[in-house]
Amino acid sequence: MKIDFRSDTVTKPSKEMLDYMFQAEVGDDVYGEDPTVSALEKFASEYFGKEAALFCTSGTQSNQIGIQLNLKPGGEVICHADSHIYRYEGGGIAKNSGASVKLIDGNYGRINVNQVKYAVNPDDIHLPLTQLVSLEDTANKGGGAVYDFNDIKEIANYCKSVGLPMHLDGARMMNALTVNGIVPKEYASQFDTISLCLSKGLGAPIGSLLIGKKDHIKQARRIRKSMGGGMRQAGYIAAAGLFALQHNVDRLKEDHLKASYLGDSIKDLEWIKEVYPIQTNIVIIELMNPSLQPTIIQSLKEKDILCNAFGPTAIRFVTHLDISDNQIQIAIDVLKSLRIG
Ligand SMILES: *Cc1c(COP(=O)(O)O)cnc(C)c1O
Repeated sequence: MKIDFRSDTVTKPSKEMLDYMFQAEVGDDVYGEDPTVSALEKFASEYFGKEAALFCTSGTQSNQIGIQLNLKPGGEVICHADSHIYRYEGGGIAKNSGASVKLIDGNYGRINVNQVKYAVNPDDIHLPLTQLVSLEDTANKGGGAVYDFNDIKEIANYCKSVGLPMHLDGARMMNALTVNGIVPKEYASQFDTISLCLSKGLGAPIGSLLIGKKDHIKQARRIRKSMGGGMRQAGYIAAAGLFALQHNVDRLKEDHLKASYLGDSIKDLEWIKEVYPIQTNIVIIELMNPSLQPTIIQSLKEKDILCNAFGPTAIRFVTHLDISDNQIQIAIDVLKSLRIG
């Protein structure tokens, strides 16, 4: 059996989740008549202390809608240069919002309030109007790095003081909350809109949520429709999301332990230059010799271990609920046995 570290998106629904999905009551959600979709949206909005939520097809969709709610054509969003919204959403900010980006370099995918202040454009007709700040927590390209909550609060306070809305790409925010221990409502109160993936470490097969104010979500429903994301008897998949939020949050800490055990066990191998600090379920290794990246990935594949190239010099491993302790040990043994060079 393959040990699949490529992403936490590769998880398959458990028997319990599938049973729950099959029992879902459904209706036409475009008519607002799917009780399970409505239950998921209500559960999520209450969980995060927000007014409303919208079930979306993917994290890209919930991010793009959240961004479009706040950006006008010719406007600008401030985000980290490695952020998913900029790098991995098919140019969606330009395409969907007609807007520009101001990219900030930072500390393992995280930015701070001084950088944000500096990145806000003055009122000058030459410059795009700064209209949104977007954070990513955990930061994927930063190796699953978690924001210090005080840094988020500083950015949020500044944004409030100048009337800038804040979006959170919280694809893995439940991993972040597992580590920082902040109460979900308090954490969520810092942001205007939040995107949360159900299909990553939470183990649902599909779906994301956009969470925010009632009038935002009403408008978001219209944008989602125009993107082709109005879904009919979506209760079957919404049920998986409900099951995930109710059963798979507490266990995320197990994925984090597996990731740190994996990283610690291999960090001194001679072909590894650096293992990024591991806070959550992502292990990124920088290679001594980047030209060997394809060879290493291929050698692992031949031993049924799958992982992804991450940029030109690194490899990423992601732990999740379909990777057992035993498989972590097998992967460590294989990594240690590789003859590189
Ligand atoms: C996975 C991910 C998303 C959304 O991805 P989809 O594949 O569209 O669901 C957004 N942001 C980050 C940081 C992610 O890792």
